[in-house]
Amino acid sequence: MASIFTKIIHGEISCHKVAETDDYLAFLDINPNAKGHTLCIPKKEIDKIFDLDEVAFHGLMEFSRQVAIALEKAVPCERVGMTVIGLEVPHAHVHLIPLQTMEDARFISKKSMSSEEFEATAKTISSFL
Ligand code: AMP
Repeated sequence: MASIFTKIIHGEISCHKVAETDDYLAFLDINPNAKGHTLCIPKKEIDKIFDLDEVAFHGLMEFSRQVAIALEKAVPCERVGMTVIGLEVPHAHVHLIPLQTMEDARFISKKSMSSEEFEATAKTISSFL
């Protein structure tokens, strides 16, 4: 069965898109640790990030780097953190999280945001790409 992220890629589930190339997609995490929490994924569905082939892995890292640079300009923060977990969604992804404190990296306290806030945040990040 297709992963929820593959359904997003195919437009079957909506997302707040931040960036897209032929091979990668970035969109806001629906349950963010902090405003601007973004997921970067390869369009090719592979469960574990370290099972990506070398080209796809490095491509995802470069795509994530570009999104992180835009994210840091768009959302005031100490720095953008990068995390890989993958326990919930079996489709390789990188979390980019604007960090103010270590709490923002802990996936415990979550920020609630309206759909308008999600939309505006995605647009602002995109504008810095
Ligand atoms: P993990 O697989 O543990 O790295 O976590 C998966 C992440 O995907 C979580 O932070 C979820 O909030 C996020 N997530 C799950 N479904 C969606 C969705 N439909 N749109 C955006 N983010 C999602």
